[in-house]
Amino acid sequence: MPQKRSTRVPMRSQDPEIRGGNFLEVNLGYSEEEALEEASRCLMCRGPQCVKGCPVGIDIPGFIRLIKEGRINDAARLIKKKNSLPAVCGRVCPQEEQCEALCVVAKKGDPVGIGNLERFAADYEAAHPDGTAVEMAPENGHGIAVIGSGPAGLTVASDLARKGYRVTVFEGLHKAGGVLAYGIPEFRLPKAIVERELEYLASLGVEIRCNILVGASITIPELFDEGYRAVFVGTGAGLPRFLGIPGENLNGVYSANEYLTRSNLMRAYDFPEADTPISHGARVAVFGGGNVAMDSARTALRLGGKEVMLFYRRSREEMPARKEEVHHADQEGINWQFLTAPVEFIGDEKGRLKALRSQRMELGEPDESGRRRPVPIQGGEFVTEIDTAIVAIGNDSNPILTRSMPELDTNRWGNIVVEEATGRTNCRGIFAGGDIVTGAATVILAAGAGRTAANAMHEYVQWITWGEPL
Ligand code: FAD
Ligand code: SF4
Repeated sequence: MPQKRSTRVPMRSQDPEIRGGNFLEVNLGYSEEEALEEASRCLMCRGPQCVKGCPVGIDIPGFIRLIKEGRINDAARLIKKKNSLPAVCGRVCPQEEQCEALCVVAKKGDPVGIGNLERFAADYEAAHPDGTAVEMAPENGHGIAVIGSGPAGLTVASDLARKGYRVTVFEGLHKAGGVLAYGIPEFRLPKAIVERELEYLASLGVEIRCNILVGASITIPELFDEGYRAVFVGTGAGLPRFLGIPGENLNGVYSANEYLTRSNLMRAYDFPEADTPISHGARVAVFGGGNVAMDSARTALRLGGKEVMLFYRRSREEMPARKEEVHHADQEGINWQFLTAPVEFIGDEKGRLKALRSQRMELGEPDESGRRRPVPIQGGEFVTEIDTAIVAIGNDSNPILTRSMPELDTNRWGNIVVEEATGRTNCRGIFAGGDIVTGAATVILAAGAGRTAANAMHEYVQWITWGEPL
């Protein structure tokens, strides 16, 4: 019997020298042979640890076994029982902290590439449709309103459409998909995949109405007046935080949200085909250490940045970004400025950004998060010439909807309070999930919350219609 390899089958990717100049996807996926080889590394454990690490409990050995047996579409369908967005999650989930962190194979080598195999199964199924019809309950005549078209809203919409509901999604932006469309760049998550998910929704009869900001154009009580039986709020955490330092309103300082939205959603990178303006800065400073900061820095590089610096006030080990993104950013030549905090943006006489004053830090005692608190080093200030700055230090929930409905319970961060097991809010018929509940989190948690809420909404509508107990 051939010896199992201890290292993971590597995923082919674009050459770092070349990809820094284009927006095409960096990772190229597994071939069937590569996927089979990687699948054969799985021990098909009886009490699989990996499943405990998956926020939505996908039957991981089950789908890997199906790949091994060559039943790849069945593998994709098995994943979809728990996760409605496998092609997305296979690409962007932080697997190294979740399922793969607990994989027993890691004791003797690399953990099984669960995310890579999930991506393979989802892409294969999309490329080789076998005509298996999606199971749909007969139409039941009840309308459901979903507010927000990110992973949480998309999941609720598809699940309830399949249960026979007439689902309408209301999206404030001109394009649907939430962060998948406006935040995560093409080189990490091709928009064709998001389009595929939206086409799937359309095939289920879901109507998506863009450019409708609920709380401004229409209110939730008005949606009930229009006949919707229940409402799901999946409005995400799209309100950028700022540094609060002098000079932040100079020309050339962007929030990551604005920068990435211009680039992704309004295709500024596709100039002159699209005419959205964006800074093609030569010397760019990005602030933050998460996925949003990595995406901003790597976008700036592709938009022509000669020197793209990433300022993070802690050290590399504490960066919350996915390991793979940090590795790719490394390969692409991002200039790391660890243990450095911005102090002031300096402008020229026309109000245009020209430099940054920053402060070197060292790690002191642990703070309330358990991480060592960065403290300034005396005499550690210095000035760097820059022409573009992108602030990616986190997002809060957007208050437009919650302000329009003050009776909806929120916590001190403005997040909607729900019953965890159902997504039920304190207001009758209103459910919520995703980042608007948890604060900025992950795609899989948002999709999982959507599935939980969809089941609870179905029970709720049954109850108000037929008096069936919850
Ligand atoms: P969102 O995706 O934020 O969608 C909410 C939608 O609601 C938006 O389209 C918004 O326009 C709309 N909306 C808001 N208010 C209203 C209103 N009043 N009326 C109508 N519509 C409204 N997670 C990962 O797991 N892996 C990653 O690699 C990763 N990278 C990321 C990179 C970036 C740049 C960002 C910003 C986030 C990233 N995340 C990542 C986080 C992840 O994308 C989010 O946790 C997830 O998208 C949350 O889903 P959601 O459905 O709750 O909200
Ligand atoms: Fe396979 Fe690792 Fe999960 Fe075991 S823990 S079933 S080896 S993926």
